[in-house]
Amino acid sequence: MDQYSCNNCGKKHDITPTIWKCECGGVLDLVRDIPRINVSSWNHYPNSIWRYFESMAFADNSKTWETITMGEGQTPLIVLDSHEPNVFVKVDYMMPTLSFKDRGAAVLMTKAKELGVSKVIADSSGNAGTAIAAYAARCNIKCDIYLSEETSPKKIAQVKAHGAMIKQIQGTREDIAAAAQKAVEEEKAFYASHVYNPFFYEGTKTYAYEIYEQLKEVPDSLIIPVGNGTLLLGAYLGFKELIENKLIEKMPKIIAIQASNCAPLVKAFEKEEEKADPVSNKGTLAEGIAIAAPARSKQILEAVRKTNGLFIDIKEEEILSARAKLAAKGFYVELTSAVNYAGYLKYEKAAEEKIIIPLCGAGIKSK
Ligand SMILES: *Cc1c(COP(=O)(O)O)cnc(C)c1O
Ligand SMILES: [Zn+2]
Repeated sequence: MDQYSCNNCGKKHDITPTIWKCECGGVLDLVRDIPRINVSSWNHYPNSIWRYFESMAFADNSKTWETITMGEGQTPLIVLDSHEPNVFVKVDYMMPTLSFKDRGAAVLMTKAKELGVSKVIADSSGNAGTAIAAYAARCNIKCDIYLSEETSPKKIAQVKAHGAMIKQIQGTREDIAAAAQKAVEEEKAFYASHVYNPFFYEGTKTYAYEIYEQLKEVPDSLIIPVGNGTLLLGAYLGFKELIENKLIEKMPKIIAIQASNCAPLVKAFEKEEEKADPVSNKGTLAEGIAIAAPARSKQILEAVRKTNGLFIDIKEEEILSARAKLAAKGFYVELTSAVNYAGYLKYEKAAEEKIIIPLCGAGIKSK
């Protein structure tokens, strides 16, 4: 049976509705046998992330997802500019709630439903909250979302529209997470955290599976925005499983992007540290990656290093110009997503290098 294990002390834990971290404070990971990937089974499933259902940590006969899915996944992979045929964008803003968070939220809420929970709590800088609220509504599960008073009004309106209760907290992103975690403990609720809950990564790993299917090979590099690292760690996990199944031979290089004004991981990477020390967020237009103390920093740094990857940080003025340049090519992304393109523009790529840039949040959602 699948279990959780603590990334810090190694202790094993059963998967229950209330567990979300180890007593020692460490984050949890799923421990399970290497999933066997049976490519010929994919066509037995709807055209969505659920093509890869058999590689996810669910019982073989589980059908819960069928009533919860909104068709998330299988987002387009498009050549950005015909002059550069090796540079692709993966248009993850074409998701039910307009960001990549639906990959994780659909899987996480499916698990919550299977565990029989009646209420979930989550904290978010915006998009994770909208995704969890939408899928909680699909599941008929009550939902409280903790967010900042400064979150984009459109994201707040979307959370509200799905019937979730909004808890607006004054303070830093870390204060908001702490308020949610306190409520989780007090109410013995399920913490539907995209950061802490390992099932979220069972969802974001489909990003790698889709790229493998769409490109029919492994890209040389992946540009990935990083706040808490949920897309980065999911993509890494997905490519790792593809390698373990001998479907591919190499891991793409991860080029991780942060905003200069809130870049704890860039700093730790440069100083060759194992974990990131918290920084103070100096304020950035990229609200979705403004995470001063990422809980999984050790895993993120490890993943980037193992792929021979690197970090790039982006200045505020580069964010606005990158968004304008993308819009001029037809793609209107939210400011947080514009950092990805800004990172690509700064990256010194090799000739013919195959690169994928995620467009993972819709422009219509942010300032
Ligand atoms: C959540 C989010 C990110 C950052 O993801 P992390 O999991 O925090 O690393 C980047 N872009 C968009 C559009 C997001 O919604
Ligand atoms: Zn522990």
